[in-house]
Amino acid sequence: MTTRLVTKKSTEKCDPSFAKEVMDKSHAHLERCYQCVACSSGCPSAYQMDYPPHQLLRMVQLGLKDRVLNSNTFWICLSCETCAARCPNNIEIVLVMDTLRKMALKENRKGSTNLPLFHNTFLAMVKFGGKAYELGLILFYMIKSGDLFKPGLLPGNIKLGINMFMRGKLAILPPRIKGKAEIKRIFELSRKTG
Ligand code: SF4
Ligand code: SF4
Repeated sequence: MTTRLVTKKSTEKCDPSFAKEVMDKSHAHLERCYQCVACSSGCPSAYQMDYPPHQLLRMVQLGLKDRVLNSNTFWICLSCETCAARCPNNIEIVLVMDTLRKMALKENRKGSTNLPLFHNTFLAMVKFGGKAYELGLILFYMIKSGDLFKPGLLPGNIKLGINMFMRGKLAILPPRIKGKAEIKRIFELSRKTG
Protein backbone atom coordinates (compact mmCIF):
# COMPACT_ATOMS: atom_id res chain seq x y z
CA MET A 1 0.00 0.00 0.00
CA THR A 2 1.33 3.45 -0.79
CA THR A 3 0.44 6.71 0.97
CA ARG A 4 1.31 10.28 0.10
CA LEU A 5 3.57 12.66 1.97
CA VAL A 6 2.40 16.26 1.65
CA THR A 7 5.23 18.79 1.43
CA LYS A 8 5.12 22.53 0.71
CA LYS A 9 5.86 21.96 -2.96
CA SER A 10 4.29 18.63 -3.83
CA THR A 11 2.68 15.41 -2.76
CA GLU A 12 4.93 12.40 -2.93
CA LYS A 13 4.28 8.70 -2.90
CA CYS A 14 5.46 6.91 0.25
CA ASP A 15 6.20 3.27 -0.34
CA PRO A 16 6.75 1.43 2.97
CA SER A 17 8.04 -1.65 1.14
CA PHE A 18 10.96 0.42 -0.15
CA ALA A 19 12.59 0.67 3.30
CA LYS A 20 12.23 -3.08 3.79
CA GLU A 21 13.68 -3.81 0.36
CA VAL A 22 16.71 -1.59 1.04
CA MET A 23 17.26 -3.18 4.46
CA ASP A 24 16.90 -6.71 3.09
CA LYS A 25 19.32 -6.09 0.25
CA SER A 26 21.91 -4.08 2.20
CA HIS A 27 21.62 -5.95 5.53
CA ALA A 28 21.92 -2.53 7.19
CA HIS A 29 19.78 -1.82 10.27
CA LEU A 30 18.21 1.44 9.14
CA GLU A 31 15.57 1.23 11.84
CA ARG A 32 18.31 2.04 14.38
CA CYS A 33 19.00 5.49 12.88
CA TYR A 34 17.90 8.26 15.26
CA GLN A 35 19.15 11.17 13.14
CA CYS A 36 22.11 12.24 15.27
CA VAL A 37 23.82 13.58 12.07
CA ALA A 38 27.26 12.20 13.07
CA CYS A 39 27.53 10.51 9.66
CA SER A 40 26.85 13.66 7.64
CA SER A 41 29.09 15.81 9.86
CA GLY A 42 32.10 13.71 8.89
CA CYS A 43 31.20 12.95 5.28
CA PRO A 44 33.82 14.54 2.97
CA SER A 45 31.47 14.77 0.02
CA ALA A 46 28.21 15.73 1.73
CA TYR A 47 28.53 19.29 0.39
CA GLN A 48 28.05 17.97 -3.15
CA MET A 49 25.16 15.65 -2.37
CA ASP A 50 21.49 16.44 -3.03
CA TYR A 51 20.84 15.08 0.47
CA PRO A 52 23.50 14.34 3.12
CA PRO A 53 23.64 10.71 4.35
CA HIS A 54 21.41 11.14 7.43
CA GLN A 55 18.69 12.79 5.36
CA LEU A 56 18.90 10.09 2.72
CA LEU A 57 18.45 7.41 5.38
CA ARG A 58 15.42 9.23 6.77
CA MET A 59 13.88 9.38 3.31
CA VAL A 60 14.48 5.65 2.88
CA GLN A 61 12.78 5.03 6.24
CA LEU A 62 9.81 7.10 5.03
CA GLY A 63 9.62 5.18 1.76
CA LEU A 64 10.31 8.18 -0.49
CA LYS A 65 11.57 5.93 -3.23
CA ASP A 66 11.46 8.35 -6.16
CA ARG A 67 13.24 11.14 -4.31
CA VAL A 68 15.90 8.75 -3.02
CA LEU A 69 16.60 6.92 -6.29
CA ASN A 70 16.64 10.14 -8.33
CA SER A 71 19.13 11.82 -6.00
CA ASN A 72 22.85 12.09 -6.68
CA THR A 73 23.84 11.17 -3.10
CA PHE A 74 24.82 7.53 -3.60
CA TRP A 75 26.63 8.41 -6.84
CA ILE A 76 28.68 11.06 -5.09
CA CYS A 77 29.52 8.74 -2.14
CA LEU A 78 33.21 7.79 -2.11
CA SER A 79 32.73 4.61 -0.03
CA CYS A 80 35.28 5.99 2.41
CA GLU A 81 33.46 4.45 5.43
CA THR A 82 33.83 7.59 7.59
CA CYS A 83 30.09 7.60 8.22
CA ALA A 84 30.03 3.98 9.38
CA ALA A 85 32.99 4.60 11.70
CA ARG A 86 31.16 7.57 13.29
CA CYS A 87 27.72 6.01 13.57
CA PRO A 88 26.85 5.19 17.20
CA ASN A 89 24.45 2.50 15.96
CA ASN A 90 26.89 0.70 13.66
CA ILE A 91 24.79 1.31 10.58
CA GLU A 92 26.68 0.29 7.45
CA ILE A 93 25.77 3.29 5.32
CA VAL A 94 28.17 2.27 2.54
CA LEU A 95 26.17 -0.91 2.00
CA VAL A 96 23.02 1.21 1.73
CA MET A 97 24.72 3.41 -0.87
CA ASP A 98 25.79 0.33 -2.87
CA THR A 99 22.29 -1.07 -2.72
CA LEU A 100 20.70 2.19 -3.88
CA ARG A 101 23.18 2.44 -6.75
CA LYS A 102 22.22 -1.06 -7.92
CA MET A 103 18.50 -0.33 -7.56
CA ALA A 104 18.83 2.93 -9.52
CA LEU A 105 20.75 1.19 -12.30
CA LYS A 106 18.22 -1.62 -12.46
CA GLU A 107 15.38 0.89 -12.84
CA ASN A 108 17.42 2.91 -15.31
CA ARG A 109 17.20 6.06 -13.19
CA LYS A 110 19.42 8.77 -14.57
CA GLY A 111 19.29 11.14 -11.59
CA SER A 112 20.71 14.62 -11.83
CA THR A 113 24.26 13.75 -12.89
CA ASN A 114 26.19 11.88 -15.57
CA LEU A 115 27.70 9.63 -12.92
CA PRO A 116 25.54 6.58 -13.82
CA LEU A 117 26.80 6.94 -17.38
CA PHE A 118 30.40 7.19 -16.17
CA HIS A 119 29.85 4.19 -13.87
CA ASN A 120 28.43 2.03 -16.69
CA THR A 121 31.13 3.08 -19.16
CA PHE A 122 33.88 2.31 -16.63
CA LEU A 123 32.43 -1.14 -15.92
CA ALA A 124 32.04 -1.86 -19.63
CA MET A 125 35.75 -1.11 -20.10
CA VAL A 126 36.74 -3.41 -17.23
CA LYS A 127 34.44 -6.13 -18.52
CA PHE A 128 35.93 -5.84 -21.99
CA GLY A 129 39.61 -5.66 -21.11
CA GLY A 130 39.76 -6.90 -17.52
CA LYS A 131 41.18 -3.57 -16.38
CA ALA A 132 40.44 0.14 -16.69
CA TYR A 133 41.37 1.57 -20.10
CA GLU A 134 41.51 5.31 -19.55
CA LEU A 135 41.61 6.49 -23.18
CA GLY A 136 38.64 4.30 -24.11
CA LEU A 137 36.79 5.43 -21.00
CA ILE A 138 37.35 9.11 -21.77
CA LEU A 139 36.35 8.79 -25.43
CA PHE A 140 33.26 6.63 -24.88
CA TYR A 141 32.12 8.76 -21.96
CA MET A 142 32.58 12.00 -23.86
CA ILE A 143 30.75 10.70 -26.93
CA LYS A 144 27.84 9.25 -24.94
CA SER A 145 27.47 12.29 -22.71
CA GLY A 146 27.76 14.71 -25.63
CA ASP A 147 30.72 16.45 -23.95
CA LEU A 148 32.91 15.74 -26.97
CA PHE A 149 30.87 18.12 -29.07
CA LYS A 150 30.69 20.96 -26.56
CA PRO A 151 32.94 23.63 -28.07
CA GLY A 152 34.02 25.06 -24.72
CA LEU A 153 35.28 21.73 -23.42
CA LEU A 154 37.14 20.29 -26.40
CA PRO A 155 40.36 22.38 -26.46
CA GLY A 156 40.93 21.95 -22.71
CA ASN A 157 40.30 18.22 -22.89
CA ILE A 158 42.66 17.74 -25.83
CA LYS A 159 45.36 19.65 -23.97
CA LEU A 160 44.79 17.59 -20.85
CA GLY A 161 44.90 14.35 -22.88
CA ILE A 162 48.20 15.34 -24.50
CA ASN A 163 49.71 16.24 -21.10
CA MET A 164 48.63 12.90 -19.64
CA PHE A 165 50.02 11.03 -22.62
CA MET A 166 53.36 12.85 -22.40
CA ARG A 167 53.62 11.88 -18.73
CA GLY A 168 52.88 8.23 -19.45
CA LYS A 169 49.44 8.34 -17.79
CA LEU A 170 47.44 7.55 -20.91
CA ALA A 171 48.09 4.39 -22.93
CA ILE A 172 46.99 4.33 -26.57
CA LEU A 173 46.21 0.60 -26.61
CA PRO A 174 43.95 -1.22 -24.13
CA PRO A 175 45.80 -3.16 -21.39
CA ARG A 176 46.21 -6.93 -21.57
CA ILE A 177 45.75 -8.99 -18.44
CA LYS A 178 45.98 -12.71 -17.71
CA GLY A 179 42.89 -13.13 -15.53
CA LYS A 180 40.19 -12.09 -18.01
CA ALA A 181 38.24 -15.30 -17.41
CA GLU A 182 38.10 -14.57 -13.66
CA ILE A 183 36.91 -11.02 -14.31
CA LYS A 184 34.22 -12.39 -16.59
CA ARG A 185 33.11 -14.77 -13.82
CA ILE A 186 32.91 -11.88 -11.32
CA PHE A 187 30.62 -9.95 -13.68
CA GLU A 188 28.51 -13.06 -14.25
CA LEU A 189 28.18 -13.65 -10.49
CA SER A 190 27.31 -10.01 -9.90
CA ARG A 191 24.60 -10.19 -12.58
CA LYS A 192 23.07 -13.31 -11.00
CA THR A 193 23.08 -11.96 -7.45
CA GLY A 194 21.60 -8.62 -8.61
S1 SF4 B 1 31.14 6.46 2.75
FE1 SF4 B 1 30.04 7.92 1.45
S2 SF4 B 1 28.42 8.72 2.74
FE2 SF4 B 1 29.91 7.75 4.10
S3 SF4 B 1 31.29 9.39 4.72
FE3 SF4 B 1 32.22 8.43 2.94
S4 SF4 B 1 31.47 9.62 1.19
FE4 SF4 B 1 30.15 10.13 2.94
S1 SF4 C 1 25.37 8.49 12.47
FE1 SF4 C 1 24.07 6.65 12.41
S2 SF4 C 1 22.39 7.08 13.82
FE2 SF4 C 1 23.40 9.03 13.41
S3 SF4 C 1 22.22 9.91 11.70
FE3 SF4 C 1 23.93 8.80 10.81
S4 SF4 C 1 23.13 6.74 10.40
FE4 SF4 C 1 21.71 7.74 11.82
